[in-house]
Amino acid sequence: MARAAKNLRVGMVAHDKRKAELARWLARHRKVFAKAEIVATGTTAKLLRKRCPELSIEALASGPLGGDQQMGALITEGALDALIFFWDPLTPMPHDVDVRALLRLATLYDLPHACNLATANLIAAGIEAGKVGA
Ligand code: PGA
Repeated sequence: MARAAKNLRVGMVAHDKRKAELARWLARHRKVFAKAEIVATGTTAKLLRKRCPELSIEALASGPLGGDQQMGALITEGALDALIFFWDPLTPMPHDVDVRALLRLATLYDLPHACNLATANLIAAGIEAGKVGA
């Protein structure tokens, strides 16, 4: 996927038990993301759009159906500035290999990525301060 202009592009993924948490978090930070492009895995994107219809949210395939891999490809292409990935540490996932691959790429490419609220808040603060994607 080609990168548009110089907009900030942030990937978002949440496993089922954490989707509501991500939607609440995004709603709290909607002003910070007003000028950003959000790219999210399928079901996460649907929920985020419902919660924040004014934001630009592009949908990939659903995570277990290849969406995590699409997100990984965006990281590899340098097309993301940050990733918010609320994975579920308490539930086994059929696509665990994809989950690990996504975390692996985010680490490998030194992408700012958050797996919990505390770190997601730091990334939101970094975006607000112009220190993410600069
Ligand atoms: P989903 O995918 O947003 O389509 O539910 C997330 C995941 O399970 O990786």
